[in-house]
Parts: sequence; C-alpha cells; structure tokens
Amino acid sequence: MQEIKDIKIKNKTYRLPIYLPDATLGVARNLDSLDLANVGLEGVMVNTYHLIQKPGEEILKSVGGIKKMMNWTGFVSSDSGGFQLFSLIRKNPNLGKITDEGIVLYNGAKKQKKTLFTPEDSIRMQFALGSDVMICLDDFTPPEANEKRTEESVKRTIAWAKRAKAEFNRLLKKHGFTADNRPLLLAPIQGHDSVEWRNFCAVELQKIGFDLYGLGGWPFQKDGKFDYSFCEKNAELTAKDSYRFALGVGTPENIVKLFFMGYQFFDCVLPTRDARHQRLYTFKVNPKTLDRKKLHELVKENKLGEIFDYIYIGKGKFATDKTAVSDFCDCPICKKTANIPQVSKAYLHHLFKIGDGSAFRLASLHNLRTYVQVIEALRKSEDQQ
Ligand SMILES: [Zn+2]
Repeated sequence: MQEIKDIKIKNKTYRLPIYLPDATLGVARNLDSLDLANVGLEGVMVNTYHLIQKPGEEILKSVGGIKKMMNWTGFVSSDSGGFQLFSLIRKNPNLGKITDEGIVLYNGAKKQKKTLFTPEDSIRMQFALGSDVMICLDDFTPPEANEKRTEESVKRTIAWAKRAKAEFNRLLKKHGFTADNRPLLLAPIQGHDSVEWRNFCAVELQKIGFDLYGLGGWPFQKDGKFDYSFCEKNAELTAKDSYRFALGVGTPENIVKLFFMGYQFFDCVLPTRDARHQRLYTFKVNPKTLDRKKLHELVKENKLGEIFDYIYIGKGKFATDKTAVSDFCDCPICKKTANIPQVSKAYLHHLFKIGDGSAFRLASLHNLRTYVQVIEALRKSEDQQ
C-alpha cells in the first residue's frame, strides 16, 4: 500500500495525495480564490496557452504572475499548452503541424503566416505565469498512432523534455531561484499503449531527471471505459519513490484506485463541469469514517460503488426536498444549523431552474469539497482517527 508522502513546493510542504481543480483562465469557474481555500483546496491547474492569450504575457508580468492576480495563497501548476494545440491541429490539420523544432501554427487558410511554439517558449511562459509546478511540452501520442508515429512522438517528447529542462535551468538562474524555493518541473511519459515505447520514454526522461512524471496520453479503452491497466503499467515505469501526476484524472473512484497504484497528483475538470450540469456527487457513508486502509480494502474488493454516488439536482423529485444535497457533506451549502442545511436540495433545484448564477457556484463548492473529502480520507491513516 502506498505510504503517506509529502512534497515541498517553494518552501511549503504539502501532504499527498493532492487534487487540483481546473482553473484554465486563472479561475475555477464561478468561484473566487477564497471559495477554493474554504473547501480545503491547496493548488489549482491553469492553462498556459489560454492565459498567454488572455490576459497575455505582458499583463501577467506586470501584475506579478497569476497567483498574485488571483490572490491565491496555494500553489499553481500549469500545463505546457501543448495539449490544446494538438487538439486544434488534430481537429483541423489546416491550422498547423508538429515539427521537431516545435508546434507550427498557421494564422490563416493560406498558411502564409506562421507562429512557432517551442518547448523553450512553453517554459518561458510558465515562468511569466509564476507557476510552481511546470510541465514540459510533449508530443502527445494519439490513440490511433501507428508504430512509426508512436516512435516519432516518444523520441520528440524526450528531445523536447531535454530542451525544456535546459531552458528551465537557465531561467532558474536568471531569476535567482535557489534549490529551496524553485518551482518544480514535470515531464509526461508518452507512447500510448506501446509497452516498449512507454518504457523507453520513461527510462530516457529519468536520465534527464525531473521532479515529477506525468501520465501522458489517453487512459481510455476503445469502448470509452477508463483503462486502469494502462495507468498501472505507466506507474511501474518510474523509480519507486517518484512523484507521479495522473494528468486529467478523474472521478473520485479513479482517484482512489490510482492512488493505490502510486499516483499522488490529480487534476480534473469533472467536479466543476459536472456541477454546471447539475450533477452532484454524494457519499453513501460518512467520509469521516474512511481512511487509507479502509479505502484500500474497498479497492481490493472492488466495492468503491458502496461509498460513491451522485444525483441530478434538476430532477423533479427534488423540487420539494428540504434535505441537504449530501447527508455527510460538510461543505458550505450542506452544513446544517439546527438540523437545517444552509442550502436544501429544493432551493438548489430552484436556483438551477431559474438560471441564477449562484446555482453554479453552490454546486461547484459542493462537488469540490466532496473531492477534498476523498483526498482527506486517503491521507488519513488508522492511528489518526
Ligand atoms: Zn455539500
């Protein structure tokens, strides 16, 4: 079973595992930084590509980075920006192409004007954001890649990681960071489901040396089911004591299962996106009665379904329901005074029905707190009860 581990990020120590909500444009939609801290979140994941467009590198530099702009006291992790560009190009190859130098983007149908986005650019932009956990630009191996494309993407990912690390080291020096207060650097492992190429990628990346290793690629089977065996094999590729980031993962169930495979970092859009779609996570048991050992037993017995559930608050049956969204939840909306929840199912149902913006905020607070409660249970050992 995975031991409890800590990580030091810029002079502050964080207990693991940790979950980061998606704050693409420097905001977890509908919530401010105080909301995030109030539900117990300690870090957020921002999107380099989007933030460099809006508000832009110059504004970010002049306000002292995204954390200062957000007045966020936790840490910020930033992606490389590559995934968005790959998705754009995959959908429409006329928008650009991937070369050894970097990602080329065309600024028009005639492909006359080109912009180049390199591994060095990505690191420079993440320094401008003031990110605490940076991610190297990688060449995403598409699930449909043949052997040749897989090899190309793995070799390019390694070459780009080397360049990103060199630029990272150069900028650490330039900005006067020390070993104690420097940001961390993560390299994603690519190679889709090719055991050989993923292994090669992990071996070469570890030779370069990174603070964290990421689960690169797409952890889903062809039928859309989550691919646990893919994640498990990937975790075995790096040294036992490595920090591993399951990028983009997942549901509460995914997080618990992957924690026991050796992952400690998770980031996912689900709780906030689901909240906007009226899908609210609930517990069937009080999460305060759960700890790491109990959760591990449930994983081994394949019984996580006995603790996690969800409701769609928009359903008619909730229109008159005076109870809390989740009985065992201690979030700001489920919290009870004299046995009456701050926000009942009926009220939240009504707020969604009339399209009031507060519904998104309240539902997001609840879902994020649920995720943090899962994380708190995973951090808890039996002797802490
Ligand atoms: Zn709640």
